Order: sequence, then structure tokens, then C-alpha cells
Amino acid sequence: MKTDAEIKIEGTKMLIKALRKNVCVRHFILFGILLLFSTAFLLRISCAAEKFPPLIPYPQVMEIHNEGAFVVNKGTGICVNDGENSGYRVGVNMLVEDIKKYMGKTPQVSFVTNPDKLRDNIIFIGNMENHNSLKRVNFPKFFEDNSQLHPEGYKLYVGPKKVIILGKDEAGTFYGIQTLRQLIKKRGTEVSIPGIKISDYPQIKMRGVHLCFQQLGAVDLSFVKMLIREVLAAHKINTLIIQVDDGMKYERHPQLSKNWAIDKIEMKEIISYAQKHFIQVIPEIQSLGHQDYFFLPAYPELAENPNNPWDYCPSNPKVYQILFDVLDEVIALFQPDYLHIGHDEVEQLGVCPKCRQKEPHLLFSSDVNKINTYISQKGV
Ligand SMILES: [Zn+2]
Repeated sequence: MKTDAEIKIEGTKMLIKALRKNVCVRHFILFGILLLFSTAFLLRISCAAEKFPPLIPYPQVMEIHNEGAFVVNKGTGICVNDGENSGYRVGVNMLVEDIKKYMGKTPQVSFVTNPDKLRDNIIFIGNMENHNSLKRVNFPKFFEDNSQLHPEGYKLYVGPKKVIILGKDEAGTFYGIQTLRQLIKKRGTEVSIPGIKISDYPQIKMRGVHLCFQQLGAVDLSFVKMLIREVLAAHKINTLIIQVDDGMKYERHPQLSKNWAIDKIEMKEIISYAQKHFIQVIPEIQSLGHQDYFFLPAYPELAENPNNPWDYCPSNPKVYQILFDVLDEVIALFQPDYLHIGHDEVEQLGVCPKCRQKEPHLLFSSDVNKINTYISQKGV
């Protein structure tokens, strides 16, 4: 039986393990968000810590039953109902890797669409959109009424003979697998999963983390992938805001990029990798403020205050020629639903001769409106 303090230590160890290669103060935002998760999770389990396994994030409904635990052994197989190219295939691969680590052997994975019956010692994975088999196979009653599940939801049943994950959709199935991965543990001499029923869906539709390339100072692709896979996807984060700025190479304005910037092929690799893990990538281009590292080293004449270069001048048409060139390249690459335009810590508007007669809040709003009008025309 674990105390809250022990569970907190365990949670922290999990995070540190996942971030082991790059733990540094520059990832404080990520830590902040994950600690928030941990705190929320601790609050919710404080009254139930004696009974339920620690899971992050905490499921909507969790019930321990008396049918017994599932023991993972070398004969344990995985049956996938949606074929080899299902959207949640990377989740299946993650589970396979976990079991292989425990057992020293890759579990057998079969892709059997709509099976008539399931053998014992099997982990069955499917989603409710591909529903035909569910009527034939003798699933527990628990799966009969799924009307309460929201998008990205799933049900997970663990019994002594079978584990069943059914997602409301492919994202839900992927998240069910992530919950299962947190439940598989070596307990005593056995690797087991406690007998449990979980019915879960996300409380918040957009669950995001902000990653600033400029703060990283260099982009290690393997680190970003590890972050996506082992930290974000594993904890059901579905949005990654990448503050691109000078961290990517631009064709039209190469002088804006730092020498460590990644190229578009590498960025595309990150976007595609995130998407496979059910994470949308939102690009951020820091605009108006914080131009001391982005626009102004290459174009110092655009500074609102040349004596303290920080904001660009929102009354200078050249600003928007360059900014829209950058946004064109970013939108073409990311094809985003949303675009983050920064505007963080804007400090010195109304300083230059062109802006001196204007109210700073109007200069600010006109900049936002110009950018919004432009990107709206581009379908963002
Ligand atoms: Zn100005």
C-alpha cells in the first residue's frame, strides 16, 4: 500500500526517466504542465490511494473487480481488430516493446478482423467504429452500453484470461493502450495487470504543451521524438505547440535562422511523427514582441525603438512583407488548423516617429488584425 508521498515520488521518477537525456531548466514549461497533471492526479487519488493504481491522467471511471489479475507471460499474444495499418498502430508497437522488455521475447501480434472468438491469454485491441465482431465475440457486459463515451474515449477491461481495449475511435484505442502500458508492472515475481474496468475520455479537448526551439538552443530530433512518444503521447497530450521562429531554415529569408536551425525535411519528420501519436502540431511564430532574436538581428531598421530593439514597428509595411513570407512557408509546411502568433511581452509601442501619435493598444490590435486577416485567407 502506497502513501501519497510514495506515489508522488514514483510519478516524479517516471517523468525524470522519460526526460533523462535532456533534463534541464529550459524545459520548465513541460515540467510545469506535467507537474500540474501530477498534482491533479494526486488530489483525485488522495481519497482512493489505497485501492486504485496510480494513473496519469486519472480515468473518468475506474472499478476494481474480483475476477483476478492478468498475468503476462511468454505466451501472451496481442490481437488487433483493425488490420496492420490501423491509425493506432504505433500504440500497438509501444505495447509490444514494453512486453518484450519484461519477457525478453516479442509477443505474437495477430491482425484478425472480426474474430469469432478470442483465445485465452490475449490482449484484444479494437475500436468501436469497426464494430461487427463485438456482437459475435463474447465480450463482458461492460462493453454493451458505450453511450457515455466521448470522442477519444475508450474502455479497458482486464480479467484473468483476457485484456480488452475498445476505443470510441482510433485515438481512443491509442489512449486505452497508453493506460494499459501504465498498468503493466512487475509485481513480485510476476508481470501482471490488476483486474480492473476503466471507462475513460478526456475532460479537456485540447491538451497541449509548448516547446520553444529558441530556448532549446539546438534541436535534437531524437530528443523531440522521445518527448512526443514517451512523455506527451504516453500521457494523452494531443497538441504540441512548436515555437519555430529562428529554429527553422526559411527559403525567402535565410538570414532569419540561426546556424543550428533545422531544415523543413526535419520539421516535416517531427510533424508526421507527432501525428502518428495523435498529436497535432501548432506552429508558433513570435510576432511584434521578442524580435531581439528573430527579425531585428537581420533587419535592425524594423525596430520600434532602435535604442532598445525588442518590438518591430507595426507601422512599417516592410515588417509585413517579411512576416507574411515567413508565414507562407510555415503554413505550407505545417498545414495547421491553428497558428500561434506570439505577441508575448510587447513593451515599447508608440516610440518611433511613425507610431508616436498612435495609442499603443491600437497599434497592438492593428497588428493582430493584419496577421489574422492574412492567415484566415490562407485557411488557418
Ligand atoms: Zn513604429
